[in-house]
Amino acid sequence: MEISLRQAARCVDAPEEFSVLRDFFGFLTDDPAAVGTLSVRDQIEANRGKHINLDLILVAPSEIPRSARRWVDHGIDGVRRIFRNVGIGVARVRPHIIPLDEAQGFDVITSKSEAKKLTRKFRGSSDDAMDVFIVPEYNVTSKGKVKAGICSIPGCNKNLYSFNGCVIGIRNLTGSMTDGRIARLMAHELGHGLRLAHRDTDGNLMQAGGSGTDLTVQQGRRMRRDCFVRDGCNF
Ligand SMILES: [Zn+2]
Repeated sequence: MEISLRQAARCVDAPEEFSVLRDFFGFLTDDPAAVGTLSVRDQIEANRGKHINLDLILVAPSEIPRSARRWVDHGIDGVRRIFRNVGIGVARVRPHIIPLDEAQGFDVITSKSEAKKLTRKFRGSSDDAMDVFIVPEYNVTSKGKVKAGICSIPGCNKNLYSFNGCVIGIRNLTGSMTDGRIARLMAHELGHGLRLAHRDTDGNLMQAGGSGTDLTVQQGRRMRRDCFVRDGCNF
């Protein structure tokens, strides 16, 4: 098992000396108590099977509050659980921080065009990863409804597209958002990034404004065809 973990860690480009939580699971925290029960075995299997990689780009104070780190980690863990049901793992998750004083006002996103500009101005480091931006405040109203996030990932060459990433908000990086809601929000937006449209079925992940996390076999098939879904690592 130890050898497999090392090999699996190589699959996500972890350094030779790696932290299981930070480098293998891609969490922001190194505190096992903060992330709940995890399965190393399941995560090894996720790397072996079809998977996506994420560049997590956080607009945040350089010292991210513990509560915010915890929500983001629970979000990632929740996305893993939701996507596992359709045979898609979340392998490498690499965080990048844009400190608030360098964020040029992008800490508060109030329109779709600002979200688009954010994804153009700052990008994740790898073309094989989906860019997920997490901002303190995403406050966009569309057709009279307040939105919590947006995602536009038209393809796998980031240089070609003007809007290339998911943008979600955690209100002021404190309070209001529960673990389940951030996981659902992250998974919903990534679902759009993997070609899914809205579906008005109670319980479905892609229901607009809903709280369900179900994905149908057909939705899973569609997602797995996206260019960001990579074949499993061989080890
Ligand atoms: Zn949506």
